Amino acid sequence: MPRVGIGHDTHRLQPGGPLRLGGIDIPHDREMVGHSDADVLLHAVTDALLGAAALGDIGQLFPDTAAENAGRDSADMLTLAWQQVTAAGYQLENLDCVVLAQRPKLGPHRQTIAGRIAEILACDASQIGIKAKTGEGVGPIGNEEIITAQCVALLSKTD
Ligand code: MG
Repeated sequence: MPRVGIGHDTHRLQPGGPLRLGGIDIPHDREMVGHSDADVLLHAVTDALLGAAALGDIGQLFPDTAAENAGRDSADMLTLAWQQVTAAGYQLENLDCVVLAQRPKLGPHRQTIAGRIAEILACDASQIGIKAKTGEGVGPIGNEEIITAQCVALLSKTD
């Protein structure tokens, strides 16, 4: 039977840059705040994959109280989480992601992000869906206080 997982994450924005999102650096005048590199999209992807395999969540694997996770590359955490999921006998069917950010425009970066996630998961970019929505200029997303990401993952057994 296929297994579905959901991931959701939010990080605050602060002045600075670039914006680390989906494993790439996007030129921007704000950056995300977090214990690791604060890559909100890779965190949602990681949780969706772990959730589909019922292997816990990113906070259990990589506590934000641990010094070794300070400033850590989220691609590294996703790689290690994916190793656990594949070791449990699963393969990826597809991911579908939504990034909720007022700025920057993510359309020009969608393919690059999908390619980077595919590289980390050793799959084809056609298995990775990336969509972007604004906050319509209202609320914490619209006011550029936060960026939120959501992801659903579908896994199947490798046998
Ligand atoms: Mg996070």
